[in-house]
Formats: sequence, structure tokens, C-alpha cells
Amino acid sequence: MCDHQRFPNLCRSLALLVAALLLQASTPIESRATPGPPPPKLKVRGYLTARIDGTTVAILDDQIHCAGAKIVAHDSSGDHPMASADLAMGMLLEAEGVWTGHHQFSAEKITVDAGLVDKQVHYGAYLQEEPKDAEKIKNGGPAELKADGEWLLLEAKTKRTWTAPEPAVVNASVTGAPAASSAAGNAANQSGLAGRHLEYQGTRRSDGKIATEKVELGAPAPADAYKMPHGLEIVRAKDPQTGIDVVEFRRGKKVDGRMKLFPEKTVQEYVSYLGDSLLPAGASGTSKALEFRFFVIEDSSINAAALPDGTVLVNTALLGAVENEAQLAFVLSHEIAHALQIHYWREVHETRPQRIGLLIAGIAAGAFIGDLGVFMAELGMISVINGHQRELENQADRLGLQNIIEHGYDPRPAPGFMRLIVERYGARSTSKLWSNHESAVLRGSFLTVQLMKQYPDHHFDGKRTNSNEFDTMREALGPVKIE
Ligand SMILES: [Zn+2]
Repeated sequence: MCDHQRFPNLCRSLALLVAALLLQASTPIESRATPGPPPPKLKVRGYLTARIDGTTVAILDDQIHCAGAKIVAHDSSGDHPMASADLAMGMLLEAEGVWTGHHQFSAEKITVDAGLVDKQVHYGAYLQEEPKDAEKIKNGGPAELKADGEWLLLEAKTKRTWTAPEPAVVNASVTGAPAASSAAGNAANQSGLAGRHLEYQGTRRSDGKIATEKVELGAPAPADAYKMPHGLEIVRAKDPQTGIDVVEFRRGKKVDGRMKLFPEKTVQEYVSYLGDSLLPAGASGTSKALEFRFFVIEDSSINAAALPDGTVLVNTALLGAVENEAQLAFVLSHEIAHALQIHYWREVHETRPQRIGLLIAGIAAGAFIGDLGVFMAELGMISVINGHQRELENQADRLGLQNIIEHGYDPRPAPGFMRLIVERYGARSTSKLWSNHESAVLRGSFLTVQLMKQYPDHHFDGKRTNSNEFDTMREALGPVKIE
């Protein structure tokens, strides 16, 4: 997944993770399939995407048979018994049981979280573009506001705090940023609203939009949130020995690591062009600190990553795995959202201390090589993924979906990409490795539910799924190694 020799510090955590996984994966089939002991209890976790019959529900393509299962609803007050008839679309389920066939899971216990069932919505996000109705919002009139991957409808009665606070005053107290990082280096365009934080609260309507009760405009993120940690810089360079094009991770004059750029110019240019075309109109609100650059890295794992400074790395294996431009546009939009929503910063600064120990491998891998949610880098980490991190991935997914829809793509292939990952790595009934792929099941089921809830009236037929440029890129890419 990365060059361990030349990239020792940054990759250590990931290397350990990968080594552990390889050990698991290389366990001989015989030893796993030995008859005798009952099959191990496994878990499936994801959002309920459909009801099949009275006792069967679906999480993406997996059918969960619940007859005889103990079902409990979990909330802050504990577990409460629940009937299978009450399982509803959008609930987050964790089913324990055994696989009885392809996509067939027999559950013994199901723990239910309200998940996306709640109509009440309350989140915060950085505005990714200038609100078109800014004046109307300011003047207290009805208005529409695009934020957090949602469409917020403001009415006259919507409580609004729309006087943007001065960044110099608010940064340190609101975001917990160190004092040194606030005013002077603040990157947000102070005359505009893109890049500022917005909190909202409301109720989802049947058309998928949010009837908003309250909006509160906050400060932009501190400029440091868009910087690489440890003073790292990412630069395009040539490997001094071989002369091949690389991306270098530098601290001052010291080179911490190099990643090999895919040499085919057509491929680099296409991904760069597509990435640029997907940047939200107001990403320039943070442009002084955040400059998006898209690089195709020669790497056989299906992965993409966004670094805090806007560098987006896309592996050749991912380009080889996506089926069309809509899927790639979704992946890039998801990564763009990670950077614009300062997810790395939030994880470092908002994660409670007791969780940091558990998450450290994830942060190192996510920051430098892997993506925190969707792809291979998350293997083995899912058991330590907590609600907070799921929230960040869900936010990037919401924003990614909205972004590609706004750019004229059919969003329906997006969950299809998650299915593809599930199928590719889905030797599920015999391999422990599978249970770690629930990340793709979780993402795919989230996207499916989000699409159904948010865009119930939208018909995406006729929207773009592919382009000639994508096909040309694939030809130039040629066959790539995918692990
Ligand atoms: Zn992600």
C-alpha cells in the first residue's frame, strides 16, 4: 500500500495493519474450513435498505433473516425489545449470526440504532460555496440553503443567526484552535460566506428537503486546519536515482517519502481535469490555504485519499476498478468533502482522549495513505470506528452525492461502487477478512438510504454516467494490478 523503505515513519501503522491482515488472509483455506466446530459468529452492520418479508430485511444485497432472532433497540437509556415488524428503512442494524449462503445471513441477535430514521436533523458543516440566497437569509425571508449535502428550506419563522462573527474572535473559542493559529493566518474569504461553519436543525420533509427551524452561521475553520501536520509539504518531483516522476513528502529539505506517479500523462490530466471540474464553486473561500491537486499514484490497492491541504491521491487500482465516470466523480467529490470539512483536523482535535489510543493507527493511515472510511485502508479498523467517525464519512458521502447530482451525474452508480467492493472481496462465509469489509456494506447501504430519503421525487434517468474521456483514460491506463 505504500513504500515502506522510503516512507518508514508515515507508513508504520499502516504496515502493521496490513501485515496483520495479510496474516489473516494467508491462513490456509483448509484450516479455516475444518469441519467440526460450528461456524464462527459473524456480524453484519449497515443501514436497512429494504424489507423483503415479515421476517427478512435487506442491508444492500445481503438478506438478513430475523425469524427467532432477539431484536433490541439501542439508545442512550439501554436496550429495549423490538419486533421484527418494526424494523424500518434507514435503521442502522448490527446483526450477529451466521452466513447460510451467498448474501444470506441468519441472525441470532439484532441491535438497532435509530440511524437515519429520525426525521429530526441536527448537524454542522462548513459551507462549501457561497449561498445563493444569502441576502434573503440575512433579511429574514424564505430562502433555500445548500449545506452539508442537504437542501435546507428557511421560512420566515426559521430562527437565524446570520451575522458572521469575526474570525479572529471566534476561532479559538469555537473550534478549540490554538490561539497562534487564528486571526493572522486565517484563510477564509472574509467578505464571503464560503468556508464558514453552519449549524442547522430541522425536520426532513417528504420531498427530502429539510424544513429548517434554526440556522447559525459560525466562524471559518482556522487556517491550520488546511495544513499538513508536522510542516509536511507535498511536492511533485523526480526520483533522483531513477528519474521517474514522484510525489514527495518533504519537511524542509528532508524527504520523508516518495510515491510513484503513474507515468501516463493522459491519465493524470484526465483525473486532474475531472477533479477540478467537481470543485464546489466557493471552494475559493479557503483557497489561500487550500489548493486542490489531484495525483494518480501507481498502487494496487483500491483507494483514494484526501490530505488536509487539498492534495488528493488516487490509486491506479481505483481507476481500474470504477465502472464509469459517475463512480469516479463520486469518489473524488467524497475526498474533496473530507478536505473542505477539515475531517483530519476534527479527528485530531475533537476525538475524546480515551479514543485516541484506539484510533491512532487509523489516523496515521488515513492521513497519509488511506481513506478513513470507504476503502482498503480501513480494513481491520472497523471495530474501532466509533459514531463520530461514521458521522464524518456519512457527511463526506452526503456531500459527495449532492455534488455529483449538481454536476449532472446519475448518483445511482455510487452505491454500485460499494457493491463492487463487497463482491470483489466477498469470500465472506469462509474468511474472517470479510467481516472487515463491512465498511463497504455500511457505505453502500448509507448511500442507498440517503438517495431514497433525500431524492424521493428525483428521476435520474438520462443523467450522465459516463464520458468518452473516461473511456479514453481507461485505454491509456491499460490493465492495472488490483489487489
Ligand atoms: Zn472517506
